[in-house]
Amino acid sequence: MQFSDFALDARLHQAIDVAGYETPTPIQQKTIPIGLEGRDIIGTAQTGTGKTAAFVLPILQRLLVQSVAGKRRRTRALIVTPTRELAEQIHGTIRQLARFTQVRSATVYGGVGMGLQEQALRDGVDIIVACPGRLLDHMERGHTLNAVEVLVLDEADRMLDMGFLPSVKRIIQHLPQKRHSMMFSATFAPELHALASEMLNAPARVDVGHGTPPRKIAHALYPVPQHLKTAMTLALLEKTQAYSALVFTRTKHRADRVARQIKQAGYKVAALHSNKSQNQRQQALEGFRSGKVQILVATDIAARGLDIAGVTHVINYDIPDTPDAYIHRIGRTGRVEREGDAMTLVTSEDSAIIRDIERALGKSIERRTISDFDYQSPAPIREPAQIRVHAPDASSVHGYGRHMARVIDQADARPFPQNQTAPRRSPLQQGTWRSSRRYAR
Ligand code: AMP
Repeated sequence: MQFSDFALDARLHQAIDVAGYETPTPIQQKTIPIGLEGRDIIGTAQTGTGKTAAFVLPILQRLLVQSVAGKRRRTRALIVTPTRELAEQIHGTIRQLARFTQVRSATVYGGVGMGLQEQALRDGVDIIVACPGRLLDHMERGHTLNAVEVLVLDEADRMLDMGFLPSVKRIIQHLPQKRHSMMFSATFAPELHALASEMLNAPARVDVGHGTPPRKIAHALYPVPQHLKTAMTLALLEKTQAYSALVFTRTKHRADRVARQIKQAGYKVAALHSNKSQNQRQQALEGFRSGKVQILVATDIAARGLDIAGVTHVINYDIPDTPDAYIHRIGRTGRVEREGDAMTLVTSEDSAIIRDIERALGKSIERRTISDFDYQSPAPIREPAQIRVHAPDASSVHGYGRHMARVIDQADARPFPQNQTAPRRSPLQQGTWRSSRRYAR
């Protein structure tokens, strides 16, 4: 199947070409024809599958073809999504695909001032991409959504997890009954089935992936004592020559700490979690997208839906709490036609969740060890210390992994001799381009 098989406006075909999409992905092949018919859809699909364009293209087609009378531009499509990052990403896809049209869209989410959003809504936009809480704020201030013809609920499972379902239901109550609705989720808990039956009318079911991650991902578990997790992370980054990696931690505090430690080892790093301001979050993401930031250390807020092209490695510094969270996290790698590695550090306390994850994947995950990693490194004495890295073997850039492996968790640090610091190499010593970037500070 080709994009030319879809009855889309020429301006959309042109934008698809410019975006570089050659053939529709499986979810697009299944969803676009149904969406163009205006039929409701319940879709099991993860991000990374081309899901966004699958619902955006039918929306744009409707807006272009079925014009409505009246001078004022009114919001005809509403996309509700759990996180600001995802909202920005969907907005980006809309802008990309609507570039040759007059269609206007706006994002609405918390953490930034109301003013600009209010202005955009007053001026009139065709599509709103919104997080539930802030959208309700606008509605309470009098913004009406009574011209909405299409509703998309994206990442519904995440909205459930984040406690947004009551808000979502309130929003839906204020939309016209007669509308085209689509709901996407990686998994369907009973609450979502109930919501689907309220919000959808005889929906077509579209399943892609059945909640299991894309096949091109290589999964591995790395057993490691808790206090050597940072050392192991650095060893993995070094061994795999990971150029663009997402590292997931359980807590915001740990994300900051691990980011600092990885930075000390010479990588370009940013941390992404909900204590960061909107501006910092955007900067971190943009840096990561553009390649200025090599390693993004994030909590689960970043796990859902982020579209970051070319992530080659996901490292779970802490194993996620649920199989769903695992699937979402590693969905950040191995995206459309790309291969990826999902590496999970595990301690002796993680066996129950590992079993659950393996059950969800329908296979066991390979346990791996790193041959030259010092697993016997003693449990450090707790006292404050700076992070130190042993001086590398100057004759070998690649031998550096061993030394990196000795970097230890700051929280559990034992003191190193004061004269040992992270190495800097002269350009002549830089064996590879990767290495030279790595040491650039
Ligand atoms: P999504 O699952 O919507 O987050 O999309 C993941 C990535 O796939 C985005 O970077 C899209 O630009 C890209 N993409 C979407 N559709 C296609 C396609 N048909 N061919 C190639 N890339 C695509």
